[in-house]
Amino acid sequence: MQAIDLSSHRLIDIDQFPCGFLSTTKDRRIIVANQYFEQSLGIGRRVLEGTCLYDVLSKASQLFCDSYVVPTVFRDGQCSEVLLTLKSDQGPSIPKVVNVKLMSDGCLSWTFMEAEKRTKLFKELEAARCAVEKQREELEQLSRTDPLTDLANRREFDDALIRTFKDAERSQLPVALMMMDIDKFKTINDTYGHVIGDNALQALAEVLRNTSRETDIVARFGGDEFACILPNTDVSGAMELSTRLQTSMSALAFGFAITISIGISVRTADAPIEHSVAMKRADEALYAAKQAGRNTTAVWGMSSSDTFAQTNP
Ligand code: GH3
Ligand code: MG
Repeated sequence: MQAIDLSSHRLIDIDQFPCGFLSTTKDRRIIVANQYFEQSLGIGRRVLEGTCLYDVLSKASQLFCDSYVVPTVFRDGQCSEVLLTLKSDQGPSIPKVVNVKLMSDGCLSWTFMEAEKRTKLFKELEAARCAVEKQREELEQLSRTDPLTDLANRREFDDALIRTFKDAERSQLPVALMMMDIDKFKTINDTYGHVIGDNALQALAEVLRNTSRETDIVARFGGDEFACILPNTDVSGAMELSTRLQTSMSALAFGFAITISIGISVRTADAPIEHSVAMKRADEALYAAKQAGRNTTAVWGMSSSDTFAQTNP
């Protein structure tokens, strides 16, 4: 065992180090070398000990040591992460990442890590970090997505709703909310089975994706309930979308009709309601649409003749 007192009060087995280690006098004479160092050079430590470190350094590294490494160590007590090249008797020169420290007894301790392995390790660490980051993003995305339809889920919808209403407050532009629910969905499930029921939910999601704008936020709340946030949209804009939706739904070739009821509420600069109020009103309008016989759209606050502006396209 090669033991050395590195901190004046600890004996350390330097042959256990996972890197090359040298202790030198302040004029760079090697006092002791560990097994890793002698093996990487292919020179026995008995030969090394007593020789000058510069005998095993490339010419350029000797100059670099003289001009930078050694002055830095004597000024700052250490010099970290410098690249030095060892001359090997066995083959090509070996680049090493070196840390040098001035010890309390005036000697210098040198650790030599393999530059290539270190770069590889850094690359592996970076790749692992990227993979973890990607996984985190995927999990975050999953936690905000409805698995059946791939639409936003309720959590994502609620965050988007708060954001959109804040934007509307700043811009004074209108924002519309649309709540939707499939009519008599239980009957569809009971008659055709859950798989067909799931297909119907996916079909509605697809229609919503295709008929809405990129800036709209479309979500499945759960069950057969869906919702849309329509930024920069007034009542007539929301009604236009609902007409397109109802038309597309009636064109679906399922072998049976799938209809939806829609409730709309709108925030305008003149009637600047909170997002929670807008949600409550859209829900009430949806209830009104169901009460009015389904397959229809109701707008909160409109007289009944205006409210059910569109049925059975
Ligand atoms: P209404 O016209 O009043 O809305 O009648 P409804 O039968 O559609 O009633 P409701 O909206 O309350 O029914 C929702 C049904 O949706 C109840 C449940 O069995 C079904 N459901 C909920 N989640 C899923 C799902 O993920 N897949 C399928 N296939 N059915 C679901
Ligand atoms: Mg329903």
